[in-house]
Amino acid sequence: MGRIIVLSGPSGAGKGSVITPVLAKFPTIHLALSATTRPKRSGESDGTHYFFKTDAEFNQLIQDDAFLEWCHVHKHRYGTLKNTVHTTIQTGHHSLIEIDTQGFKKVRQHCDPLSIFIAPPSLEALAERLTKRQTETPQDIESRLAVAKVELESQGDYAYTIINVDLAEAQHQLTQILEKELI
Ligand code: 5GP
Repeated sequence: MGRIIVLSGPSGAGKGSVITPVLAKFPTIHLALSATTRPKRSGESDGTHYFFKTDAEFNQLIQDDAFLEWCHVHKHRYGTLKNTVHTTIQTGHHSLIEIDTQGFKKVRQHCDPLSIFIAPPSLEALAERLTKRQTETPQDIESRLAVAKVELESQGDYAYTIINVDLAEAQHQLTQILEKELI
């Protein structure tokens, strides 16, 4: 059986930039795509970034007990699909799920995942990154910063925290953690 790896961190902490190149070095780790009711951002596509769902479709998935966990995050719903994770770990691969801190609390009730938190150097740095990436409105940025404050308080629940000051260094730390824990 493979392991479940939970990766969390505030929106804008650079999770994607840290994870993507590192995952390319670990063919045994599969990134599990979540389902979400959030609208697609430009450049995103269904089945590559998320499974984009309508509210009705998401409700049906809840009814079908398809989720390992699901949560309200930033006014939308996001959920980890049981099927994706189970198929991966049953074939001996590791399933990496990128979820928020509430989702981690729920997953921890069912299993003992390897948990890693990616933190920004500071809230100021986070605000700057969110503003620069121009994917959210100013109101969305405000709400993401408020959520980030709460999420940062949960970083002590994770086995590892990586502070993303320098991208190459953060990638190196993630590589070391995965090598130590999985190989
Ligand atoms: P974004 O909208 O920027 O792609 O993601 C926003 C937040 O939703 C991130 O903190 C991300 O970790 C979280 N998220 C993405 N997928 C899931 C999921 O399946 N479950 C939970 N609980 N959170 C998720």
